[in-house]
This record gives sequence, C-alpha cells and structure tokens, in this order.
Amino acid sequence: MSRAVLIAVAALSLLGMSIHPGQAQQAQQAQPPQPNAKPFQPEAAGMTVQPAGRFLYLIKGGSGANTAFYVTQKHVIAVDAKMTAEAARQMIAEIAKVTSNPLSILIITHSDGDHVNGLAGFPPGLTIMASEGTKNEMEEAFKDEKMAALRAYLPTQTHSSEANLRTPMPDGKLALISLYHFGPAHTSGDTVVLFHNEKTAFVGDLAFTGRDPLIHRQKGGTPIGYIETLKKMIALPAEKYLSGHADPLTKDDLKALLKSMEDKLAKVKELIARGKTLDEIKAAMGVPAQASGRWPSLIEVMYLELTEKR
Ligand SMILES: [Zn+2]
Repeated sequence: MSRAVLIAVAALSLLGMSIHPGQAQQAQQAQPPQPNAKPFQPEAAGMTVQPAGRFLYLIKGGSGANTAFYVTQKHVIAVDAKMTAEAARQMIAEIAKVTSNPLSILIITHSDGDHVNGLAGFPPGLTIMASEGTKNEMEEAFKDEKMAALRAYLPTQTHSSEANLRTPMPDGKLALISLYHFGPAHTSGDTVVLFHNEKTAFVGDLAFTGRDPLIHRQKGGTPIGYIETLKKMIALPAEKYLSGHADPLTKDDLKALLKSMEDKLAKVKELIARGKTLDEIKAAMGVPAQASGRWPSLIEVMYLELTEKR
C-alpha cells in the first residue's frame, strides 16, 4: 500500500470510514442503529430530490447533470457536482432538507463541466475522489483563467481501476461503496459508483436513453471502450443504474444500449471494409451530414476510431 493510500485511510478513519483500493469484500454488520435522517421532502425550485434506494437519493434539475447522495450513519457521500456554484449550493441545501449529516466525500464520475464546474460552490476541505484520468482532465481544464476558482477542488484521492469505501449506516449495517474505472469510454477517466447495499450504481455519462451516447474523443473517449465498459456495468451486482442525463435505468436498458452500440459499430466496420467514405456511411445510417449539436455523432466517432492511423 502506498504512502498516499495510507494517508487516505487515516483521513477516512477519522470520518468513521475506511477506504481500500483493490478487491471489494463483503459488507458486515457493525454498530447499533442510530437513525438520524430527517423526513423526506421531495421538491424545491428547479431541482428535485427523489429516493433511489433506502439511503440513496437522486437529484435532478438545476444547472448540470443529475447528481446523487448517500446518507450514511454520520456523513453524506455525494456523487458529482452540478455545473455552477449556485446549482451546487442549491444541491447542498436539498441534501440538508433530508439529513443534518455533513457532506464529507464527493465522488466525481468524470471531468465534463456539467459534472464538475459546480465544485466551487462546495465547502473547502472535502475529500474529493476521482480516477487518475479524470484528475488529469480536470487539471487541464482548470488551467483556463476562467476556471481558477476550481483549482482548489482537484481530486484529493485518485484510483486507477478501483477503490472501496466502507462506512456504518443508519440501520447499523456496514455499507460498501465501490468506485470502478473500467477503462476509457465516455472520457479517459469514467468512474462507476456501486452502492452494494442498494444494488444501485451511479454511472455518470456511461448510459443514455433516447439518444446515442456522447463520446469525447478529445478526452480519450472511445466507442470500443464504451462497449467494454457497458459489459462490465451489466455484470455488476446492481438492479438499478442512475445516469447523469436519464431517468433511472434497469439492466435490460443497459443490455439494449449495448446491443445498439455493437450493431452500429459492426455496421460502420462493414461499410468501411466496403470502401465507403464517412459521408456515405453517415447517409447510409441516417445521420445528418452536419452534427446537430456541439459534438460529432456516434457514427462519426466510431468511423474515426476504426480508421485511425496508428
Ligand atoms: Zn459527460
């Protein structure tokens, strides 16, 4: 175990938590129940909080992607940070309506602005966890003078493939939370957060519905990696998947997304083998010649990956 990890373990022990990179172990019973959650109040202006499990909540609305928080016995662990400091403060106010526990750990799923730019609205001194790739991308983005306020919120603990948190819960059980980086997918550093006790994973932008997934090649994102990551997400002991941009999804939703991506990748591969150009492939697959949004279409990203000169 590296010195940095030992320091991290010491810091989290102060919070009554423990963190272990590497293999997850079974959660165990510990400590008597000390429920201190306040009654649930569902609605606030522009932002909604919905229960996503026994102690897990999903926050939708406000500026930025969906976020989540987990109310442990003495703390709150949140996932993602909204897009503005104002939205982050609103998120913190929503959490305070559910529990008086302090927010101690913030997990960042990936570096996109709609998931991290709200960090400046969080109190200083939080433990911020993310993959190494996400930290690198944040450092790069925060070099921009406009982002100077975010430089104090770089991840304080990083993982290369997996990290595990164990913490006592209000019901006296010990919860296990696993952070998995399955490889480059939407970006170079996506993390899936599995709340074992809730059989629920927060997957950031690793699942979309009603549209093709967005893949940021400029950040090392890759459709082939996205497909591999989806397979690993499906294999997790989870029944529900919380997404940054969709309603909660099931394993069947993820299987349908996987099949659609595999089918599209196979089709693009076949058309490339038949000597088709990108424009011809787009036309054949019903994709407009010009991307409608800010980002290239999934088909274009697949084409670029498959034809990349290495
Ligand atoms: Zn994203």
